[in-house]
Amino acid sequence: MSDQDPQPDSPVTTGGAAAEPVHERLEARSFRVGDGTEVRRLLPQRRLRTVGAWCFADHYGPDDVIDAEGMQVPPHPHAGLQTVSWLLEGEIVHRDSLGSLQRVGPRELSLMTSGRGISHSEESPADRPPILYGVQLWVALPEAARHGEASYEHHTALPVVAHGALTATVVLGEHGAARSPGTTFSRLVGLDVHVDGDGALPLEPDFEHAAFVLDGEAVVDGDKVGVGDLVHLGRGREEVLLSGEDARVMVLGGEPLGEQLVLWWNFVCRSGEEVAQAREDWESGDRFGTVVGYPGPRLPAPPLGPARLLPRS
Ligand code: MN
Repeated sequence: MSDQDPQPDSPVTTGGAAAEPVHERLEARSFRVGDGTEVRRLLPQRRLRTVGAWCFADHYGPDDVIDAEGMQVPPHPHAGLQTVSWLLEGEIVHRDSLGSLQRVGPRELSLMTSGRGISHSEESPADRPPILYGVQLWVALPEAARHGEASYEHHTALPVVAHGALTATVVLGEHGAARSPGTTFSRLVGLDVHVDGDGALPLEPDFEHAAFVLDGEAVVDGDKVGVGDLVHLGRGREEVLLSGEDARVMVLGGEPLGEQLVLWWNFVCRSGEEVAQAREDWESGDRFGTVVGYPGPRLPAPPLGPARLLPRS
């Protein structure tokens, strides 16, 4: 997925995090892309830039993709991050500049580590199911890893941990003794929790956490929420109470990175100068490699206005 928000935020310096438990409900910013598909941006928000190293979350669908071309995201670059594609329904084909060609279905982890630079495309396969429904997440790479090599992983066997009425799939990171096979570069967790009744989900108190509804409606920490709502939970919690009927809740958490991030388009950088260099390298360099086999031209970078180079203090 590329950041297709027609009006991306200015780069914002991040890094702070609530040190204590909080409960704050935040509403996604919704916008339409391409063919009219609605995307709900849960992260970043003005009041919450990051949750641990998680720095971006878009929730989309369920969309009918049976007509015309379905989803088509042309080749575009990434730097300084990992992308996590997690589908509730549907299928996509991932191609990248490493030569990866992978068909990805529901409940399969598609994890791309950009390191210093990678490019990729995503498309609906010709023989696709009619509905596409999922979430796209980004994890900021810490300083020690962000200049490293790019890689791509596809994992179909993920740990599942039951807590009474809650069934948690460990998409990425650690949950108690369970670990996702996906590679991580800071301590974090990403859970897809099936909620059917009332239950307490154990949390790592050192982590900052947030939860949002993937599907259905749920009560999160006493607050009834639906698709498009995110609940920031802060730090220092041993557990969070969840209830619902056949709902799915995504819980994100992690140790605060403690680094200042500048996000612009598909890049996670540390300064406006780095953003400008990454943009220039996509427009006229070979830093991000070439995606082979995508049936169409690559995405041009949006214009970089002078105001976007000024991180907010
Ligand atoms: Mn992408």
